[in-house]
Amino acid sequence: MFISYEEFTHRADTVRAQIAAACTVAGRDPATVELLAVTKTHPVTAADYAARYGLRAVGENRVQEAAEKRPLCAAPTLAWELIGHLQSNKSKLAVTHFDRVQSVDSEKLLNHLDRAAAEFGKILPVLLQINAGNDPAKFGADLAGAPRLADLALAKKNLRIDGLMTIAPLGATPTENAEHAARTFTNLRTLRDDLATRLGVPLRELSMGMSGDLVPAIAAGSTMVRVGSALYGAR
Ligand SMILES: *Cc1c(COP(=O)(O)O)cnc(C)c1O
Repeated sequence: MFISYEEFTHRADTVRAQIAAACTVAGRDPATVELLAVTKTHPVTAADYAARYGLRAVGENRVQEAAEKRPLCAAPTLAWELIGHLQSNKSKLAVTHFDRVQSVDSEKLLNHLDRAAAEFGKILPVLLQINAGNDPAKFGADLAGAPRLADLALAKKNLRIDGLMTIAPLGATPTENAEHAARTFTNLRTLRDDLATRLGVPLRELSMGMSGDLVPAIAAGSTMVRVGSALYGAR
């Protein structure tokens, strides 16, 4: 059985306290770090809980799953963000069912999403996914290719580039995980600062940090932590 709303509020309060503590250490205002509830694999109730708790948005990693759940969601103003890999042939579906796509990682996908957004007569907000930890197992533009991807993205009339997203590579040990996380998140922050200066755009959003590594992400400047298991339990 899925967790109760009371259990959810308890977990969410705990995550919020973790975010606040990490912000205090980093000398940051907790209001600058958004909690994105990752509802993938869970029933639509997970999204209803997030909305009722006052969260702005949920994250899903598959287009089809979100397309099935979103119409059942009781909260019409809740935003849905795609955080998983997107095949370019599913761009129209993604534009239909998501308010923002965080996983834009190639020129081909930029082209398809721009065209799909134009067809729907909308401006689609996106983040560029960067493989900032140089993980062979992860999607995302590599650090060297990021400036070119950003140039191409900014030229798209039907896309709005809000910032960057990354996922830290898994290590073999907790120590290795912590090292990878710190390096990956610092890389993304540095890249964002360089691009923002060079291109003259804010690229405000830094989507980085999950249940297990949100503290180092906030230390490095995360503006959005994507949290699943700490809110809803193991998948
Ligand atoms: C599943 C997922 C998350 C959430 O991971 P947890 O460890 O459950 O918090 C965050 N980001 C992405 C891209 C994911 O696919």
